[in-house]
Amino acid sequence: MAKKQFKAESKRLLDLMINSIYTHQEIFLRELISNASDAIDKLAYLALTDEHVGLNRSDFQIELVPDEKNRTLMVRDNGIGMDQQELESNLGTIARSGSFQFKQGLDEKKPEDLDIIGQFGVGFYSAFMVADQVTVISKKYGSDEAYMWQSDGADGYTIAPTTKKTAGTDVILKIKADTEDEQYSRFLRTWELQQLVRKYSDYIRYPIRMEVEKTRMKEGTEKEEKPEYETYRETETLNSMVPIWHRKKKDVTDEEYNNFYKEKFFDFEDPLAVIHADVEGAVTYQALLYIPARAPYDFYTKDFKKGLQLYSSGVMIMENCADLLPDCFRFVRGVVDSQDLSLNISREMLQHDRQLKFIAGNLEKKIKQELSKLMESDREKYEKFYQAFGMQIKYGTLADYGAKKDVMQDLILYWSSKNEKLTSFAEYVAAMPEEQKYIYYANGENRNRLAQLPQMEKLREKGYDVLFMTDEVDGFIPQTLLKYKEKEFRSVMADDLGLATDEEKKAAEEKSEKSKQTLDFVRQTLGESVKEVRLSENLGSHPVSIVPAEGMTFEMEKYFKRLNPDSDMKAERVMELNAEHPLFNTLQIAVAQDEEKAKKIVRILYTQGLLMADLPIENPGEYTDLVCGLIQ
Ligand code: ADP
Repeated sequence: MAKKQFKAESKRLLDLMINSIYTHQEIFLRELISNASDAIDKLAYLALTDEHVGLNRSDFQIELVPDEKNRTLMVRDNGIGMDQQELESNLGTIARSGSFQFKQGLDEKKPEDLDIIGQFGVGFYSAFMVADQVTVISKKYGSDEAYMWQSDGADGYTIAPTTKKTAGTDVILKIKADTEDEQYSRFLRTWELQQLVRKYSDYIRYPIRMEVEKTRMKEGTEKEEKPEYETYRETETLNSMVPIWHRKKKDVTDEEYNNFYKEKFFDFEDPLAVIHADVEGAVTYQALLYIPARAPYDFYTKDFKKGLQLYSSGVMIMENCADLLPDCFRFVRGVVDSQDLSLNISREMLQHDRQLKFIAGNLEKKIKQELSKLMESDREKYEKFYQAFGMQIKYGTLADYGAKKDVMQDLILYWSSKNEKLTSFAEYVAAMPEEQKYIYYANGENRNRLAQLPQMEKLREKGYDVLFMTDEVDGFIPQTLLKYKEKEFRSVMADDLGLATDEEKKAAEEKSEKSKQTLDFVRQTLGESVKEVRLSENLGSHPVSIVPAEGMTFEMEKYFKRLNPDSDMKAERVMELNAEHPLFNTLQIAVAQDEEKAKKIVRILYTQGLLMADLPIENPGEYTDLVCGLIQ
């Protein structure tokens, strides 16, 4: 029979497995049992929704059959099975979840760093760590044909018809010969296998059975001085079958929570937080949710699929139920189990289930609570979370025109100019001096540049904090929230920063009136480049600032430009001049006495304003000539 070759990717993984010097080879058993359990899940679900299957939950099981003499270990399930084509595509390639993620992990790390194997769902291929031949005999439920897949390792595999009575899959490993370093024989001993099942697969919800050898006193010899013993064989269930989320919180250790997470969701880092809820009421359910420590590589792409695993009374009914998880918290992973969900409806119907919506609403509250708690009690951890998912918190705030802003706004952090660390709106407002009217913020790409904005000087003097918003999406946050705890957001670029008293305002108006000729001149010189030219009291020791007119900010302009480079969406520019600066006086004199010089000063001032605002300058050549002309 012609041997088929593994796909290139699979071959590399196989080579790794075969030559693995890895110490946790034992995890192969966990992987095979987990596959068996998934296969049973699929048939169990079918049985629930289709009475023709005629199987009960109690009919399902996973069997371990070690054979020390022939050095084989069989993992047998009576799940859904695979047909010829599935054997080919599922076991011939690694484009599947667990193994694929594993390979990606390997690509990120150094191949020598094999320690990560144990932390991944490495899938079927891990069998080759302990076996030099793997045989899979499978019969798909509902089919009359059975097939045998066989491989000795990296050089390929064969598939041939065979016979098998019932649906399901037998995976038979020909266990490697012992070497000086490795006792592969231990995987044939019932006691060792028992230990491994308890360690890795205890919560599997179907019985994992094995025939074990036991000893007992021979009947009739109990009372004798030297009772005789005999050995007998008995099938035992090795796992307790209680899913971790059905156990009491106080009985589950952190390590158990974390291990479950890493195995189930293919992460190699511990989660940042665990939410374990047992809710009784209008809808009864258990939920075990995890907040990952880092974003999956595809998190911010459209390929990422959010969702929670959905169980009903311990039977998995949906691998990824998107409706259970509010969009704003799409990074959360976990499982939900509810006995109240009606099972006899299609998965499509389930999406609209009222109970599902109820649970989703509840989970939203719990996730928010957990994150708020983390922010309060373990700031370092929260900031780690924020680094990974802060962007999602912001997008979640903006989504659907701010539909979830009340939930999300408390979870946002921005850099505080005053304290030089991340701060929440609540912390900002609590620390505001009594007379401070607004929550000040500045948009821009980089904190250091923002700190140099002319407007910062006066606010700093007053002891007011400014939030630096340096992400693209930030431009939209104040406009969506408008207020936080009754305090309005105000850009430091705004005309009125709310700092002047009535008298100061009046004095400023008079000053403007007096400077009208100069301001008009500037406006005329700059033409269409600016919408308005005005005096400002906000510039401290700086002569000029270019700020956006009301409406679009400069950051939004940059954002739209990036989306569409041809876009002519532009934030209108306003030029603010500081009448207290000596340059303004120079300008005034020039306007009266030497218009050519005055025009040069205006162009220089305008370009300086653009530079400070981190905006592209329109004519760099002209600008440098002008400056050089002045200093010659
Ligand atoms: P993963 O389990 O992460 O998807 P594996 O390499 O372990 O990756 O398995 C690949 C695929 O082969 C599985 O997704 C499943 O479709 C199929 N498979 C493996 N073992 C079994 C089994 N015992 N019964 C039915 N299908 C199986």
